[in-house]
Amino acid sequence: MKLDTSPIAAIATAPGRGGIGVVRASGKSLAPLIQSLFPDVTLAPRHATYIPFASNDGSVIDQGLALYFKAPHSYTGEDVLELQGHGGPVVLQMLLARVLEAGREHGLRLAEPGEFTRRAYLNDKLDLAQAEAVADLIDASTEAAAKSASQSLSGAFSQVVHRLVEQTINLRMLVEATLDFPEEEIDFLEKSNARGQLAGIIDSLEHVFRQAAQGALLREGLNVVLVGQPNVGKSSLLNALAGAEVAIVTPIAGTTRDKVSETIQIEGIPLNIIDTAGIRAIDEGIDVVERIGIERTWGEVGKADVILHLLDANLGPSAADETIVAAFPIGVPVVRIWNKIDLSGHRPVVEGAADATHIYLSANEMLGIDLLRAELLRIAGWQQTGESLYLARERHLIALRAARQHLDVAAQHAAQDDQSLDLFAEELRLAQDQLSSITGAFTPDDLLGVIFSRFCIGK
Ligand code: GDP
Repeated sequence: MKLDTSPIAAIATAPGRGGIGVVRASGKSLAPLIQSLFPDVTLAPRHATYIPFASNDGSVIDQGLALYFKAPHSYTGEDVLELQGHGGPVVLQMLLARVLEAGREHGLRLAEPGEFTRRAYLNDKLDLAQAEAVADLIDASTEAAAKSASQSLSGAFSQVVHRLVEQTINLRMLVEATLDFPEEEIDFLEKSNARGQLAGIIDSLEHVFRQAAQGALLREGLNVVLVGQPNVGKSSLLNALAGAEVAIVTPIAGTTRDKVSETIQIEGIPLNIIDTAGIRAIDEGIDVVERIGIERTWGEVGKADVILHLLDANLGPSAADETIVAAFPIGVPVVRIWNKIDLSGHRPVVEGAADATHIYLSANEMLGIDLLRAELLRIAGWQQTGESLYLARERHLIALRAARQHLDVAAQHAAQDDQSLDLFAEELRLAQDQLSSITGAFTPDDLLGVIFSRFCIGK
């Protein structure tokens, strides 16, 4: 990926109103921009200067703090200027327009999404896993997710990956040195304990994978579809599940009709609950908007990790239940929940059956809710380890898995009598490439483009 050093600027704070709002600029040298914005003042690096932000004709747009970070001691590794004004959308747009105007003759342009962080990456301020953690920290929907994103941002995840890369390189060096002296090949594996070293690397990799996989759960969460007829207790169950933990409601943008999910958390794992209340058969009486809504909800159902089918333990299933359940995607685990056992007299219990796991509970009386929570965590694959986790992405897990496969093949070569050392070395190299792709030491440009384009502008 080419390093474009032309100066860039953007509003760095979230859209909307806030106490303060920040316009940020970055470039190889911002001296001309600063000179043109503040002709009478010298901004000392890393000092806050309270100053009027004036437009070209001298009228004051806002007053606030100007902060100048001289390269390379900045977020991006370039010169960075931050103007902290008041956080109103219009005033910030005016301030940004002023900055762009003042810098135009020096090539200043609006930043692309993620461009500040991309520059930080290209200038070695962050590696790729850390850059991704910036976005994940910003997007974290639970406290546990935020903590592990911050753990990855601090470089802890990158460090363990680096250690794996180093161990692999060391082993490769040993093998490749031996390849140059074929007469020593025969007992190389014994002498150098190459098999033992490889087993050690595989063990460490397994450990990192487990922590990363648990961290990925915190990021991705579980998509849960909640179905059931009116009045079986869907809202009551949601409240009971959210319990003492903070329920974070994140309606999907749009009208009420569009609202298809909300998020609660169990042990820090976000559960995106997809509400199917709006699902009914698509027939001629339905208008276009509702039809789109229903189709979209079915689209969400298709992405479900688990379906919770809620029934009234007193009344049993209705014909409408059977119709909806018949339309569920095949292969998605179903938990059939019999609610209101306080009325029916059942005991809270989990029963495995061929069609689904059955759980008897009462949302109102909080009976058996712990059974459902445990079942959801089990389906999610959550294991309480007490270790700090790395907020990993699917991309990282795929790379770790691929590295593991190459190491396994290497181990097979090492186990063979003919000691195919060159193949052993080649598998180590492939494993190393996979591991390096996590931190970005070996990552194709198009993948970098995809990763950074998912950031918002200003990050
Ligand atoms: P929804 O339409 O499926 O969302 O159902 P609600 O959560 O609104 O509940 C419908 C009614 O059932 C309300 O009056 C609840 O108080 C009641 N209800 C929910 N859970 C229980 C329960 O476990 N026991 C009893 N007795 N009533 C319940």
